[in-house]
Amino acid sequence: MSVGAREAERHDAVAVRPGFGQVEWYLAAAALEQVLTSADHDRMDEEARGEAVPDVVGEDHEGDSHEGGDELRFLDTVKMGRVYWVVPGALPTIPGWAELGPDALTVTFSEFSQRIRRHPGELKNLLRNQAFIAGVGNAYSDEILHEAELLPLRKRTTLKPDELARLYAATRKVLSSAIESIKAQPGYEPRKQDRSFMAVHGKAKGKCPRCGHRISELTARGEATDFCRGCQH
Ligand SMILES: [Zn+2]
Repeated sequence: MSVGAREAERHDAVAVRPGFGQVEWYLAAAALEQVLTSADHDRMDEEARGEAVPDVVGEDHEGDSHEGGDELRFLDTVKMGRVYWVVPGALPTIPGWAELGPDALTVTFSEFSQRIRRHPGELKNLLRNQAFIAGVGNAYSDEILHEAELLPLRKRTTLKPDELARLYAATRKVLSSAIESIKAQPGYEPRKQDRSFMAVHGKAKGKCPRCGHRISELTARGEATDFCRGCQH
């Protein structure tokens, strides 16, 4: 995500706000971008430092592009997200940046399939490994694997080419449609993290929307993995 260049010199680190999920962060970043590129600089200063997230979440930011080379990016490692306002060339100075893989929403299939070869383990852990691709957390890894019809504990090394293609397609589809679903929620509030649109995550013992099978849940280290034994293989 890129933002305008005007304020780059004044604001090299604009917002720090824990507690969002991954997709919510994309939206917050889009909202912050809106504020940063607006003429209302006093308001921007206040919001960047204080509690309030800009209240423009829900507007359509598609197609936004700006002159200049500055970028607004976010990192989120277990709900400790930060938004950085970065001047050209300064990305490597952000803590943790060098270890991050490409963004899960924009990674190409060729890059995805190249990078995945370095990671032999279980698919759920793989998707959440920010060194592979950045931007997928616990809930969305469940959603992506359900969409791809792949089991969370399946080993990457067992994937056939068509399954790899499904995993890639599902990653993009789930994240982009989640953003649309969240934007469409009336009175969207980032803190509430309404995930009612999800297919399996948080739906343990409910029915799979694709095959009707009961949704299974595994818990490890306080985190739930939800999936369907009926249609994920
Ligand atoms: Zn199912």
